[in-house]
Amino acid sequence: MGMQKTDDEWRQVLTPERFHVLREAGTEPPFTGAYWDDHGAGVYRCAGCGAELFSSDDKFDSGTGWPSFTCPVDEERVGAREDVSHGMRRIEVVCTGCGGHLGHVFPDGPQPTGLRYCINSCALDKSSDGA
Ligand code: FE
Repeated sequence: MGMQKTDDEWRQVLTPERFHVLREAGTEPPFTGAYWDDHGAGVYRCAGCGAELFSSDDKFDSGTGWPSFTCPVDEERVGAREDVSHGMRRIEVVCTGCGGHLGHVFPDGPQPTGLRYCINSCALDKSSDGA
């Protein structure tokens, strides 16, 4: 979608929590978000631009308190970049549609990918119809 907005424009359309996570690479506290314990079928869209990012088909219970997926619905919709903040070396994942920070990906997930996409609930909006 290539959505470009200024910080002021994002502040007008996002809640403060969503702005902090999506635009300032914040992290919601574990076990607090809407989706870490959500097990129903559906599609998870970017809370910034609406792109379809993750599916309940690829969701698993990681025990971390954040919604976790083995893969995005389309590799091209989720970008990765190295994040060395907070004294750690991690791989940050972002929405390629709007550049919003989603969370991180770790190499300790279940099969088939062995990956764990650890995503902030508030970076996502779930719809149950998949439309
Ligand atoms: Fe987005």
